[in-house]
Amino acid sequence: MSRQILVTSALPYANGPTHLGHMTEAVQTDIWVRFMKLRGHACLYVCADDTHGTPIMLKAESEGVTPEQLIEQVGAERRRDFADFGIGFDNYYTTHSEENRRLTVRMYQALVAAGHITRRTVRQAYDEEARMFLPDRYVKGTCPRCGAPDQYGDSCENCSATYTPLELKDPVSVVSGTRPVERESEHIFFKLGDFEPMLRKWTRSGTLQQAVANKLDEWFDVGLRDWDVSRDAPYFGFEIPDAPGKYFYVWLDAPVGYMASFENLCARRGMDFDTYWAPESQAELHHFIGKDILYFHSLFWPATLEGSGFRKPTAVHAHGFLTVNGEKMSKSRGTFITARRYLELLPAEYFRYFLAAKLASGLDDIDMNLDEFATRINAELVGKLVNIASRCAGFVHRGHGGRLAPAVPDPELYREFVEAGEGIAAAYEAREYAAAVREVMALADRANLYIDRHKPWLAAKDPARALEVQAVCTQGLNLFRVLMTCLKPVMPAMAERAEAFLNAPLARWREIDEPLVDATIQEYRPLATRIEPAQARKLVEAPMSAGEDPQPAEISADEFARIDLRIARIEAASVVNGADRLLELCVDLGGERRTIFAGIRTAYDPARLVGRQVVVVANLKPRKLRFGVSQGMVLAAGSEGGLFLIGPDPGATPGMKVS
Ligand SMILES: [Zn+2]
Repeated sequence: MSRQILVTSALPYANGPTHLGHMTEAVQTDIWVRFMKLRGHACLYVCADDTHGTPIMLKAESEGVTPEQLIEQVGAERRRDFADFGIGFDNYYTTHSEENRRLTVRMYQALVAAGHITRRTVRQAYDEEARMFLPDRYVKGTCPRCGAPDQYGDSCENCSATYTPLELKDPVSVVSGTRPVERESEHIFFKLGDFEPMLRKWTRSGTLQQAVANKLDEWFDVGLRDWDVSRDAPYFGFEIPDAPGKYFYVWLDAPVGYMASFENLCARRGMDFDTYWAPESQAELHHFIGKDILYFHSLFWPATLEGSGFRKPTAVHAHGFLTVNGEKMSKSRGTFITARRYLELLPAEYFRYFLAAKLASGLDDIDMNLDEFATRINAELVGKLVNIASRCAGFVHRGHGGRLAPAVPDPELYREFVEAGEGIAAAYEAREYAAAVREVMALADRANLYIDRHKPWLAAKDPARALEVQAVCTQGLNLFRVLMTCLKPVMPAMAERAEAFLNAPLARWREIDEPLVDATIQEYRPLATRIEPAQARKLVEAPMSAGEDPQPAEISADEFARIDLRIARIEAASVVNGADRLLELCVDLGGERRTIFAGIRTAYDPARLVGRQVVVVANLKPRKLRFGVSQGMVLAAGSEGGLFLIGPDPGATPGMKVS
């Protein structure tokens, strides 16, 4: 029976570029959604940028733009990043929307009416120069317990003491650099404790992973405290209707962003909002989140939903963090990898595959060891899986015109693969992706063994055995088709290329129940290629910048003469999808045309380059990039901050030697 499922992944805070941590969560969710759709369920995936709070307000201020402009700009980059990683959102929205304002206010008013909201005065650090109340993390100073300098206003990284900002010795406002004072303000609180009986039951009803439910028991034991849901102006968010100058705390309206994004989708597709969000809804609601935001999603969120007359989530799936080479992602260690940087170096689906191969349903961190990354892509994806298709395709074309045999010669083996697929499906459903991938690779070994045993390359030498060759390869290609379908949620683009090669597009998992026979397939083109470990390691190397170059060693005139510098004329220039530093140039070297990828996009508008003469290194070894082969290098001075192409004086012509 088809299930109605609404899925969300956590809202990334719109305060900077997306990185591989964001992609880990989005990919994990996307695999589950694609799997559900492939199994024939009505599954929808919505998300939104989390756009409210003090950091965004201050960042916009420092960049001289409005918060709305900042989130618009960040949002556009993110949509592109997620799309390039193949994330198939049904709707990607923002929490700074009218839908979200309406829903948040409706929820708040319902909570007020039901008596779940209270007010009381709090004392808080206030910056008199910036004229704003300071969140704890915006005050720094010396730890009152151990004396460690430069600690945040809520806790000490050195001795783990917790305290209030004004207990710090020498507290300083991060915003203005002045000493904050203490000031009183009335705040609005949500009475979380009203929901303790419901929460105790809900958290133990199969909605949460065991480890998470256990963690929540600790929180119940210390007691559920009232939650401060208001912030004083200036703040970027929604003003509270009955409290002028006060705004909803970002964590109140952020998860409402899931509903708002869904409402926006309903308006676009003419669907019914209440079918999914009314208390009696039979639809499933699944949230995928990082383990750091469990408190918000498994206590505040179900409680505010319950208190305001909406349904509660079916499940909250928490996951661990992505580490790189065993270390936390960190800018100072160079292990902070933006989504864009990854895409400049490697195919998105290799990340999706590697992640799936490492992911289980628990809270453990996922380590992206870059050597292991290259090894698994090369040994598993290329060496085992794609190998099945590339070994068989040629024989079906040679002598059989690309026609598959009328039947598979070993239907029993085919049946075993299809049945094993059901076990793989169960693993996906339970978010045990690593187990699913492991099983696919074990089956790939069996498929390769089948081909090894029947040696079509030997049989093909004997014209009398032509039908046998065709049959064996038909079997091999059908086993490949089953495995590729099993991996379709992980690598949708590669699966589609495989389907195009087999001339058999596939919308539902069940379509592999019957083998593909007596059909014509297309020419085989490589579905995945090997990567050099050095290429993966580049992810953690900072891109070279001219300022940091060491003084180069002396060279002789002969050594210099080995560089073939030529004048070239740019005939065409265009941007490269998926590489925001590169332009693709077509240059004329005096009769010879070359394609060169140049890292000058930040400095030059492609339209204005056409017709310009430049200096090119003509004998540079061609370099294979993801987008094509670069056949030379264009000379420029400076670095990314300021790039200047080198050109000749008037009179020079394309092809002229430069010396
Ligand atoms: Zn301390």
